[in-house]
Amino acid sequence: MKRKIAILGSTGSIGTQTLDVIRQHRDLFEVVLISARSSVGLLIAQAIEFDVPHVVICNEARYQDVADALQPHGVKVWAGVDSLCDLVGMDGVDIVVGAMVGFSGLRPTLAALKAGKVVALANKETLVAAGSVVTKLAREHGGVILPVDSEHSAIFQCLLAAGDNPVERVHLTASGGPFRTWDRQKIAGATAAQALKHPNWNMGNKVTIDSATMMNKGFEVIEAKWLFDLTPDQINVVVHPESIIHSMVEFVDGAVIAQLGCPDMREPIGFALSFPQRLTVGNKKLDFATLGGLTFEAPDTNRFPCLGLAFEAIRRGGNAPCALNAANEVAVAAYLKGLISFYDIAKIGEKALSGLNFAADPSLDDIFATNSEVAAIADGYIH
Ligand code: MG
Repeated sequence: MKRKIAILGSTGSIGTQTLDVIRQHRDLFEVVLISARSSVGLLIAQAIEFDVPHVVICNEARYQDVADALQPHGVKVWAGVDSLCDLVGMDGVDIVVGAMVGFSGLRPTLAALKAGKVVALANKETLVAAGSVVTKLAREHGGVILPVDSEHSAIFQCLLAAGDNPVERVHLTASGGPFRTWDRQKIAGATAAQALKHPNWNMGNKVTIDSATMMNKGFEVIEAKWLFDLTPDQINVVVHPESIIHSMVEFVDGAVIAQLGCPDMREPIGFALSFPQRLTVGNKKLDFATLGGLTFEAPDTNRFPCLGLAFEAIRRGGNAPCALNAANEVAVAAYLKGLISFYDIAKIGEKALSGLNFAADPSLDDIFATNSEVAAIADGYIH
């Protein structure tokens, strides 16, 4: 029996790499639904190559282009996020790959979990903004979240060796991004083009900027809290520039189990798709003899204040991480357009936390309200 896969955000970095894994294992997987926001050409090409029966174009203005191209192939074409939310819950979907960017992934992810699906989650902002709501809903409806983020996939893999032993701490590794060795003054003048040159990982623009500010690592701390039921004090961030150790779990006796591999997102994607089996995914294998050394250093929250902001948000809890995420999405989009400077991203995040209308136990409605209120305020700082 082939596993039937829905890919939310099939034209982005995770989406295309997911399809690359599936391309290598057409006997194991069948793609039954793909969606994209507005990359019409690639979406159409993917639908034809993978014989996908259902295609959603989220930007409704582009519907006719996609329908004209795909209806002659017998493909059902839908428009808008509401359609996507309806379709992810349909019978015959086994795994939903959550690869949309940012807060926009929240509603479809919730819809999939509500339908009791397995969600291979790459869209960390969903857990950052609404971790309590998302995990509660998954529990109530039998939905399962499998991590695709490489660090969380690593922790998940390490935990398979844990038996009943409780976790003492996890060590989330961070590459440190392109500005790891730069001083604060030089970082202050960094352009988006420089920030987009990640030393190790091939990723989309949003997460690559978040890696340069280390907001990504902060968000991953929040993601780890929800995925593995940890307190902030149990999560240690360590900079590991080689990105070979993808994360580690420590136990009460001081033993540490680590997961290693060449940095290639197809490995965690493949593991989530085929769990508990493993697949070949076409990646490079580690050659320890030529690897040289693995090095580690403490993160510097003075040069990378976004990491400190994320820890502040997780400690405050409630809707604080949602607010930080909303401000960050607006700030990163503005930075990519050259409208603000590198450290303005942190300043806008800081303002979102200091001016927050705090809700200790936010409902889903509170989360949506916080997201739009904070995004509007953050937008006001920029324009
Ligand atoms: Mg990651």
